[in-house]
Amino acid sequence: MEEIYQLFCNKCGWKRVSDHSDAHDLFEIKTVDVPKGIPHIDPVNGSMCIPKSLKRKKKYRCPNCGFAVSFHKIENPQEEVKQNMNLQRRIQKRIENDEKERLKQLERDQKKRDRPNGGEASTDRRTL
Ligand SMILES: [Zn+2]
Repeated sequence: MEEIYQLFCNKCGWKRVSDHSDAHDLFEIKTVDVPKGIPHIDPVNGSMCIPKSLKRKKKYRCPNCGFAVSFHKIENPQEEVKQNMNLQRRIQKRIENDEKERLKQLERDQKKRDRPNGGEASTDRRTL
């Protein structure tokens, strides 16, 4: 399965979805290597052991606000997309409902406005 990574800014909401955890066009924030421990002599074979430095996630500056952002892997892109679509659909539905409600309200207002001066039935009778 294709791996999907996402950069997301917690500050301004900017986001980018990519299939690799690298962004050459963004400004990378250099992080200092932090060793896992101090170098020591291996008691078994007497050789020097230099601990590998901790693997740090690359950090980038958000192009929008400059906040530090880093890639996080989306484990299940399909699920993520589905959830996003669900959300979109729910928002769309809410907008449609609001619109329907608004139209109903307009209709009600229209009827209310018609009633007081609407002696239309009697006017009709007079003209007949
Ligand atoms: Zn941002």
